Amino acid sequence: MLFLIPLLLFSHSFSLFLKIYYNSIKKTKGYAIIQAKKKFGQNFLQDKTYLDKIIESMPNDENLIVEIGPGLGDLTEKLLQKNSLVAYEIDEDLCKILKEKFDIELVCGDVLDSWQTGRLREEKYNLIANLPYYVATNIILKALNDENCENILVLIQKEVAEKFNAKVGEKIYSSLAIIASSVAKTEIKFDIPPSAFNPAPKVMSSVILFKKFKPKYDENFAKFLKIAFSQPRKTLLKNLSAKYNKQKIENIFDKLNIQKNIRPHQVSKELFFEVFSELKGETKNDNDTTTNTKRDSKQ
Ligand code: SAM
Repeated sequence: MLFLIPLLLFSHSFSLFLKIYYNSIKKTKGYAIIQAKKKFGQNFLQDKTYLDKIIESMPNDENLIVEIGPGLGDLTEKLLQKNSLVAYEIDEDLCKILKEKFDIELVCGDVLDSWQTGRLREEKYNLIANLPYYVATNIILKALNDENCENILVLIQKEVAEKFNAKVGEKIYSSLAIIASSVAKTEIKFDIPPSAFNPAPKVMSSVILFKKFKPKYDENFAKFLKIAFSQPRKTLLKNLSAKYNKQKIENIFDKLNIQKNIRPHQVSKELFFEVFSELKGETKNDNDTTTNTKRDSKQ
């Protein structure tokens, strides 16, 4: 039989077993029993409609494709029909199956270990993947800051996609949206319901495209944003004063005509850049949090 054997799902508590027919491409036919590993965020996308929609949303270029977490290889098979591909997979059991099934460069291990230098590849590439949700934000930030990554098309938790795509004034607007929009144009392509996956995740998913127009972001600006959003519901002044000289911040706010009670989600990317530029060279009060706390508590 050269078509997929229907997936058999045995479920008791968190234990899910997928029975797959994995040797249809090779001469030897066989079955593998794979336990979907929760710790690796394994939710396999099985619905072909959505696999096709991901392919239709791909950037129209010749770049190498990097796929993180090919899993059982359903998306890989379709991506390979488009461009050449390199894959990174952490699960040794899946690596064995993928090596049998595809003649591709497959790096077995945690992809984050391959990103130590800041560049995953030495050539230009597009990241296209159904990412493991537990590490998706981290992977996207790495790719946004990787000068060789030109585009990112990823399937992630809907809530996280919305955070990356948020606009100023929205409650979910945070450092993620500002970092993303400083190097890429973001677009949520479509949503995917839990029923399209096996096992089904508890949450809705979305496919989001990041079209990069800048190779990487300023890491010091990202650190500054982390401080600015450290307590998202407090004022920006309070958050920044925990790390920088409060008088200096107040002077900058006066100069830039910023209200003292403004919250971080109400501040545009451009205005954050201006505050950051004014603060450049200013020492952070890393060892002086007690002083700041005392000063704040007097108010
Ligand atoms: N691409 C497959 C699909 O669409 O059905 C599987 C996607 S599944 C959500 C995530 C995949 O990423 C799994 O195969 C998992 O083993 C792999 N993975 C998880 N953490 C990883 C890491 N740190 N580095 C590389 N792969 C990882």
